[in-house]
Amino acid sequence: MINEKEIRTLKGFTLQEIKEYFVSEGEPAFRAEQVFKWMYGDMVDDFDEMSNLPKALRTKLSETFYIDTLSYSTSEHSPSTRTKKYVFETSDGSKIESVVIPEKKRTTLCISTQVGCPLDCKFCATGLMGYKKNLTAGEIFDQFKLASKDYNESEITNIVYMGMGEPLLNFNETVKSLKIFAEELTTGISLKKITVSTAGIAPKIKELEETGLKVKLAFSLHSCFEEIRNKIMPINKKYSLKENIEALKSYAAKTNTRITFEYVMLEGINDRDEDIKALARLMSTIPSKLNIIPFNSLEHMNPSGLAGQLRSTPMERIQIFTDKLREKNITVMLRNTQGDDIAAACGQLAYPKIE
Ligand code: SAH
Repeated sequence: MINEKEIRTLKGFTLQEIKEYFVSEGEPAFRAEQVFKWMYGDMVDDFDEMSNLPKALRTKLSETFYIDTLSYSTSEHSPSTRTKKYVFETSDGSKIESVVIPEKKRTTLCISTQVGCPLDCKFCATGLMGYKKNLTAGEIFDQFKLASKDYNESEITNIVYMGMGEPLLNFNETVKSLKIFAEELTTGISLKKITVSTAGIAPKIKELEETGLKVKLAFSLHSCFEEIRNKIMPINKKYSLKENIEALKSYAAKTNTRITFEYVMLEGINDRDEDIKALARLMSTIPSKLNIIPFNSLEHMNPSGLAGQLRSTPMERIQIFTDKLREKNITVMLRNTQGDDIAAACGQLAYPKIE
């Protein structure tokens, strides 16, 4: 049900919620589909442009709701890779970042779910900036709206929830945004082209499975050893790797999808021969593939403690590591870093420090 407080922004309402609203107002349900399509398919921000609605209804809606959520702040473009980083502003002046990453066969948009992040992973710039608040489903969707309106060189084909924040700690709004993307009336992007990435909130993985949404899931693994994960990802002390792997196994089976394991290469921490063995063992038990990511420097944040000591595994060692895993029949993708020249690469998103 819709509560009074939410009623001002219509952006973020799912089709079901808009239907409930229209029915409660005595309007026919098909009007909900029209409004939904204008908002998310045509990305219109003004009720007056919704030309197939009666004038009186448009007036009533505009007296009750507004539609737009985020505004464009700045952007940076990397000429060498054509990666583009956007800074968007929420209505209370918080800044978030989204990145468009063009590749040969697809163009991926990386979106944020929170302002900052509470997880404090030692290798991640967003963790260093701290946590401010959750984004609404409307704000999550509007990153797509603003980026796709601007980035018209080639259309966005894929979305990854890998920007700032932990999507599963903003569970309700993340799921609402997925429900919006899942509707045929929205855009050409189906859930098959969307990946939600999590550092491992085991009970929420289970809950996501129960929504029946069948979105692809990426898991930020980074080490197969509990003690090492505890050090570099403090959230592991609350939800252990073991518990997460159980949840992921069930998710993969129920949704019939493969889990993507993400693995940032940290010199001396997770790049040893025993890590190769442990990875091969773990991955043989679950339908999955591995994304190996060179560690992107956090030097621009000048971190202290463990964060300041982390170094990327040298490229030659990353190549050997990858080859050895492939020999063990593990599917491995070696991601090349894109956007580090504009601090838009994985783990480099941070805007300005939250006090
Ligand atoms: N909280 C979610 C989504 C955001 S992080 C999660 O943890 O999955 C998205 C990806 O970027 C994760 O795999 C994360 O581990 C990776 N990443 C973080 N910091 C990085 C860095 N400095 N270099 C390379 N990748 C990094």
